[in-house]
Amino acid sequence: MKPRDISALLDEPACAHNQKAKSGCARPKPGATAGGCAFDGAQIALLPIGDVAHIVHGSIACAGSSWDNRGTCSSGPNLYRIGMTTDLTEQDVIMGRGEKRLFHSIKQAIDSYRPAAVFVYNTCVPALTGDDIETVCKEAAKRWGTPVVPIDAAGFYGTKNLGNRIAGESMVKYVCGGREPDALPEGIEREGFRVHDVCLIGEYNIAGELWQVLPLLDELGLRVLCTLSGDARFREVQTMHRSEVNMMVCSKAMINVARKLEEAFGTAWFEGSFYGVQDVSQALRDFARLIGDPDLTARTQALIVREEARMQAALEPWRARLAGRKVLLYTGGVKSWSVVSALQDLGMKVVATGTRKSTEDDKARIRELMGADALMIEEGNPRLLIDLVRRQQVDILIAGGRNMYTALKARIPFLDINQEREFAYAGYDGMLELARQLCLTLESPVWESVRRPPPWTRPLTHQPETATRDGPAALGVASMTSALEASHA
Ligand code: SF4
Repeated sequence: MKPRDISALLDEPACAHNQKAKSGCARPKPGATAGGCAFDGAQIALLPIGDVAHIVHGSIACAGSSWDNRGTCSSGPNLYRIGMTTDLTEQDVIMGRGEKRLFHSIKQAIDSYRPAAVFVYNTCVPALTGDDIETVCKEAAKRWGTPVVPIDAAGFYGTKNLGNRIAGESMVKYVCGGREPDALPEGIEREGFRVHDVCLIGEYNIAGELWQVLPLLDELGLRVLCTLSGDARFREVQTMHRSEVNMMVCSKAMINVARKLEEAFGTAWFEGSFYGVQDVSQALRDFARLIGDPDLTARTQALIVREEARMQAALEPWRARLAGRKVLLYTGGVKSWSVVSALQDLGMKVVATGTRKSTEDDKARIRELMGADALMIEEGNPRLLIDLVRRQQVDILIAGGRNMYTALKARIPFLDINQEREFAYAGYDGMLELARQLCLTLESPVWESVRRPPPWTRPLTHQPETATRDGPAALGVASMTSALEASHA
């Protein structure tokens, strides 16, 4: 990838960071890729496409060090779970065999698994040695008649976020527009009921969350042509250009995809979230608003009224248990406000929220939800988080997996909200699951046990007569020591 292409991706006009910075997103600083390099970002953005063979072109460490597919689920093919790499060695680099090795790896993947397509991820070593992966992919696709897509995202290009954008860029450049959507089943459209095609961008189907949202969209006659990339298939990504409205789900990482599809095909898009009753309703309303079909608008409103009434009743017992409990939310980006609204729906009080990856828009929404004095944490190291928990008398820390041990070592109830989570919180029913998990965490008897002072720090209730009668076994550790000392004397 040429430096000017990287600069263009960093200078994304639709990203709110750009409205502040003069020349696009900040360039990576030394150590920035420790939170995931560009290759890692590209791979996690596209790995959920289940019927594709994902080949990492580089040394074994790149495939081994990346973050895998982050708990994303597939309803069909599981090819994405097989790690494939060209495993470049020093000998390959010295002898200039990288391209040849890649060519053979693509053949092996096609012969062994018959994938719908092959994605080739470039990494640091072949980018430095100058392997022309675009030409190799083109030749391989011609030779074996299977689409082969280069994702040029070497780690040193920048951060994980840049990698997300490179991944989106590659989909728009090489895949979208590859075929037309399937025809609708006969008779599905009737008087006043039209099916509309939509896409979800940045939805990864973590813990199967997408499946809690799809029934709502189905009921409204919104056909999801593709989710980029949760539970997606290659042939679905090819049809994204036919979407009427795209929704950026809880993430700005692939905002360039929404913008480019708008520029090329006039597809309207909006940013929304499926966390919290209010936000799910708002997302459905936004679809109807942008599509502009009066019948869809009326049916959407009816569905929202019905679902909100159902949730009102279903959440009541949980609200009684959670109301007033204090939360410290430390997550990034859009989740910094979307989860706030979900927690407030449950009557909880969010005392602070992390804004490390949040845009100015995100922060404005936080202020709207939490008030002008909202406490925003830009950089949350473990010490700061623990101090904040103690100072604000927080009941639970909700954050990503990497903060789990910080919380547990400090004996603070913890709930994982990021990509490694095991429970699905999206959609109306996701709120019930969130409430259930919060109660299970907060009310677990383990907190009472681990917070109790250890026996050796409890005050002594020394009674010499008892000691003589029952012996040391009936006493605490300190009393045992005194009893032993007494017997030796
Ligand atoms: S692509 Fe580069 S930075 Fe990323 S894991 Fe591989 S060697 Fe490390």
